[in-house]
Amino acid sequence: MKEQNDCIFCNFEDRYVIAQTDLSLATYFPRAIKKGHFVVAVKEHLPTFTDLNEEQIKDLSALALKLAKIAQNLIGAEKYYLAAIGDLDRHFHIHFLPKMPTDTPMGKHIMLESGWKGEVGESVSEDDVMQFIQSLRKAC
Ligand SMILES: [Zn+2]
Repeated sequence: MKEQNDCIFCNFEDRYVIAQTDLSLATYFPRAIKKGHFVVAVKEHLPTFTDLNEEQIKDLSALALKLAKIAQNLIGAEKYYLAAIGDLDRHFHIHFLPKMPTDTPMGKHIMLESGWKGEVGESVSEDDVMQFIQSLRKAC
């Protein structure tokens, strides 16, 4: 993990590492947006979800599930939101953001009419949705 490069995940200080396996790493995130925000990442430079193999997915998922259950109970979170954007780093990673009982639900800000639009989101017709579903089913 300790490579000579500018990669944030390769250079995490040990004091920020929560847990790790041979394949995955869980850390406190230096730019955490709230208490309880942590990140689980693959150790290799594999930036997107589809770069990972099944072994890496299973390892990352097992570590993430274990930590999220513990953290949720520890801080009294109602649940954890998960976000995997991956535009800036070379390691696929998932952000775990706690939803506390008093927090406003994020779903309506992301998925409903007031949510992701403009540069990120767009309106999708029912036909487009059904066509995507059918194409994906056929390809499976
Ligand atoms: Zn790296």
